[in-house]
Amino acid sequence: MDSGARQLHASAKRTPDEQVKAQYDPAGPGRGGGRGAAPPADPTRYTAAQVAEKIDAMLVAGGAMMRINDAARGEGIIVAQQHRGYDEATAVPTVVVRNDDFGRIERLMADGDDVKLQFDIVNHSYPEGKTSYNVIAEIPGTDKADEVVMLGGHLDSWHGGTGATDNAIGCAIMMEAARLIQVAGVKPRRTVRVALWSGEEQGLYGSLAYVKQHFGTAEDPKPEWAKFNGYFNVDTGTGRIRGGSVFGPPEAAAILRPVFALFSDWGVAGVNANTSRVVAGTDSTSFNNAGLPGIGMQQDPIEYNSMTHHTNLDTYERIIPEDAQRNAAIIAAGALHLANRDEMVPRFEKDKMPAPVKVPTF
Ligand SMILES: [Zn+2]
Repeated sequence: MDSGARQLHASAKRTPDEQVKAQYDPAGPGRGGGRGAAPPADPTRYTAAQVAEKIDAMLVAGGAMMRINDAARGEGIIVAQQHRGYDEATAVPTVVVRNDDFGRIERLMADGDDVKLQFDIVNHSYPEGKTSYNVIAEIPGTDKADEVVMLGGHLDSWHGGTGATDNAIGCAIMMEAARLIQVAGVKPRRTVRVALWSGEEQGLYGSLAYVKQHFGTAEDPKPEWAKFNGYFNVDTGTGRIRGGSVFGPPEAAAILRPVFALFSDWGVAGVNANTSRVVAGTDSTSFNNAGLPGIGMQQDPIEYNSMTHHTNLDTYERIIPEDAQRNAAIIAAGALHLANRDEMVPRFEKDKMPAPVKVPTF
C-alpha cells in the first residue's frame, strides 16, 4: 500500500509484543475461557431491554412521529443497528444524528427556540426475503476427505457502512487462504471448507443452523460431529492476528502452537485453549457450544472498537491490506496443518466435556 493510505491509520493501535507474549505463554495463567456468562440480573430493576420496550410503548401511545437519538460518539461516528423487535407496530421511526448535531438541537431547545426538523424517510420491508443463506465452498480432501477443517467469516453487516471490517475482511481472508492453498498446489488430506455465514449480526443464525444441521452437539452428535477437525474464525476487524483460542483441552492448543510459531516475526504470539461453551459475539462460539474445536483469533485492535465496529465509517478505506494478506497466510498454514496431520485435534473426553450451555434467544 502507499504511504498516503497508511496515514489514514495514524491512530492504529497494535497490542504491545510483551502483552501478547505473556497472554499466550503456555506456562502462564493464560486468558481462560473467553467471555463468561453475565452476572444474574437484579430482579428489582428493569433490564435495559425492558426500559427500551417501555420507552417505545410510551412514544407509540403518545403519537410521536419520530424519535431522534444522539449518536453519542465523536468524529461524526454513527452507530445504527436494528430495532430488536423487527416490528413497525411497536416502535416509531428512529433517526440517529451526529453528536454535534444532536447537541445543537438540545441547546436551541434549552434556549426556548422552536426547533423544526424535516425528514424524508422511505423504507421498505421485504417479508418475502426472510431467509438468508450461508455461502459454502470447499477444497476436497484426499485420503481423509470425509474429515473437515473449516474457515469462516460473516457476510452480513449493518447498514451505516458497507461492513468492510465487520466482517467482509474476515470473509476475504478466508477466501484468500483457500486460494493460497490452491496456488501452492498442495492437496490437503482432509477437506478444507470455507463458510461465509449470514445472520451473524442478528444472532449467529447462519453458523448455529449449520452446526445444528451438520454436527449436532457433544450430547446429541450427528455422524459428522466425529469427523470435524477445527473451525478458524476471523471477526475482529482488519488488524493482524496475534494469537488464537481453541475450544478444547490444553493438548488442542499444543497442536496449533507450532504452526503459529512460524509467524512469530509477524507478532503472532501463540494459542490458548478455552473451555467456554457460551454462545456470544461471533461464529466460532457456535462450534464451541456444540463441543467442537472453534478457533477464534485475537487481532490488533487498530481502530475497530473506537471507530469502525457497526458504524458509518466501516468502509473499504479502513482496511490495512498488509495485515489482511498476512492473516490469510497464517490461516492457510493453520488450515493445512490441521488438514494434513495424522491425528485429529484432541477433544475433551466425554466425562471432561464442559456442561452444555443453552443457546440464547437473540
Ligand atoms: Zn462481526
